[in-house]
Amino acid sequence: MTRRTARPEPTRELELTTSTRRCPGCDGPLWAAYTNRRTVVALDGVLRLAVQVRRCRDPDCPRFGVPLRPEQEGRVALPESEFGLDVIALVGRLRHAEHRSVPEIHAELVRRGVPICVRSVGNLLDRYDELLALSCSDAARLRRITAEAGRVILAIDGLQPDVGHEVLWVLRDALSGEVLLARSLLSSRQDDLAELIDEVKAALPVPIAGVVSDGQTSIRNAVRAVLDGVPHQLCHFHYLREAATPIYEADRHAKVQLKKKVRAIRPIERKVEGREDDEAEVIRGYCAAVRSALTDDGRPPLDASGLKLQGRLAAVAASLDRVGAKRGCRRN
Ligand SMILES: [Zn+2]
Repeated sequence: MTRRTARPEPTRELELTTSTRRCPGCDGPLWAAYTNRRTVVALDGVLRLAVQVRRCRDPDCPRFGVPLRPEQEGRVALPESEFGLDVIALVGRLRHAEHRSVPEIHAELVRRGVPICVRSVGNLLDRYDELLALSCSDAARLRRITAEAGRVILAIDGLQPDVGHEVLWVLRDALSGEVLLARSLLSSRQDDLAELIDEVKAALPVPIAGVVSDGQTSIRNAVRAVLDGVPHQLCHFHYLREAATPIYEADRHAKVQLKKKVRAIRPIERKVEGREDDEAEVIRGYCAAVRSALTDDGRPPLDASGLKLQGRLAAVAASLDRVGAKRGCRRN
């Protein structure tokens, strides 16, 4: 069947890599095999995902050639899905908690800027119901999922499309990419979450070797209560964002101070206004360099804008020093 609406243009790009760098089969190195690109329609925009897939290259390993996808991919979207897990969580809530019809849900999604057709809303509702129907009592399914790796890396995500409403908890096996259990709860209380983790732990035929999450306090406490001693890896993306906050604040403060120092640029520009000689041209050039440095924002957290401004202003100052030295005078 041909697609009648154009595929939406991505608004954001997201690169995902695996946190697991040792092969779960032989503990040898995992090698970057290829990058899988997919587009996902999420609540906050259309994402272009670059998914780095790793593989073990040891022919004697039971997991030789088995692709390992980034642990975080399943939080963004289920396998094969064009829509984000957050959209599915919202569709499910609107249907089951607010009893809205499919056309009403469609209208709400469109109001929120999600490019979607009515038929897709129906499909997402089916996906939501399938997700919630997964049961830990299906022992054959759990054996099939976990047989290859012989262990589970448990990924725990709480999706809450709107603050104050239900949280869709999804517990996945990051090694196989399969969802183990999903439950919609009114709260993110650690006792309720601990119960879910316990249910998965009790049903699994293999041990849980590690946990991956965004590290929010309720998840951390629940994991400690049920899986004491199991390594708990925080998602790199959230970790970096949290760690960068104090640096971001300090950098913003530094930028404000730096800007104060170069505030007097306008009087200098005014002084050479109307002059056509070389010196005036050079002065205007320097003024333009300072101005463009002021408007050039960095991309925090890895590229701080205050540091960037400092670097550009230092380059302007060094250039002025060189000019001054040539002419036998010094700037002040
Ligand atoms: Zn291996």
